[in-house]
Amino acid sequence: MLEDRVEILGVPFVCATMNEMVEIVHEHVKKEEKCFIVTANPEIVMKANQEKEYMEIIRHADYVTADGIGIVKAAQWLKKPLPERVAGYDMMIRFLELSNQHAYKVYLLGAKEEVLQEAVRRIRKQYPNVDLVGARNGYFQWEDSTIIDEIKEKQPDFIFVALGMGRQEKWIAEHMPHVQKGVFMGVGGSFDVLAGALKRAPEAWIRLHLEWLYRLLQQPSRAKRMMALPKFVLKVWREKVAKGK
Ligand code: UDP
Repeated sequence: MLEDRVEILGVPFVCATMNEMVEIVHEHVKKEEKCFIVTANPEIVMKANQEKEYMEIIRHADYVTADGIGIVKAAQWLKKPLPERVAGYDMMIRFLELSNQHAYKVYLLGAKEEVLQEAVRRIRKQYPNVDLVGARNGYFQWEDSTIIDEIKEKQPDFIFVALGMGRQEKWIAEHMPHVQKGVFMGVGGSFDVLAGALKRAPEAWIRLHLEWLYRLLQQPSRAKRMMALPKFVLKVWREKVAKGK
C-alpha cells in the first residue's frame, strides 16, 4: 500500500506515477486482495466538498489518483506537487494490457447496452487473453443484487464501473464489502471512449491542457457541470492565500 498522499481540498491524492500505480495494483491482484480506486477530477473534488457522504466514500478509497491536469496544477500551486496525471481511461487501458498478459478476469459494469457490447467486442479483439467474465449495462434498479452475486461467483480480478461520477463510487462502496477480492475502479465515460461512441481529445489538445474544452465541444450539455472547474480554481486559490503558500 502506497502511503504518500497529497491532500487537495480534503481529498487525499496518492503520490504515484502511472507506472507505480500499475505496479502497486498488480501486487494487490497477485495477493488476491480487494482494492478501490477513485480517479478524481476537479468536478469530483467539488462534489465531495458539497456532499459529506460522497467525501467519506472517497476518503475511504484505497487510492485516489489525479484525473485531469487541474488536479496536478492545483497540487503545484499548493506546493504539494503530484508526479503526473493518472487518468482513469489510461489506467483502465493499462489494466487491460496487464490482464491480457496474465489472463486476468475482468468484469464490466455500466454504460448503455449497445455501447457496452461494442466495448466488449473491442476488448475481445484487442486483448484476446483477457478473461471477460461478465458485462452488465448501467441501467438497472439500485437494489438489483444479481450483479454483485455474479461478481461474487465469478471472482474477477478487475471490476470497471462506468455509471458516471458519484453513482459509480457509491455503488462500489456499497457492494465491495460483499466480495473476497478484486480491484474496483470507477471509470466514468471510458466504455463510451473504448467503444468509439465518444472521442478522446487528440494528443495536442491534451498537451495544451485543453482536454476539458474538447469534451465540452463534443458534449455541450456538460457546460453546466463544467462550472465546477472555475469554482475549483477559486477554492484552491483561497486555500493557498489562507495558508500563505
Ligand atoms: N451511466 C450508466 N447508468 C446511469 C447513468 C450513466 O451506466 O444511470 C453511464 C453512461 O451511459 C456513460 C457513463 O455512465 O457511459 C458515464 O457518464 P458521464 O459521461 O456522465 O460520466 P462522468 O463524467 O459523470 O463520470
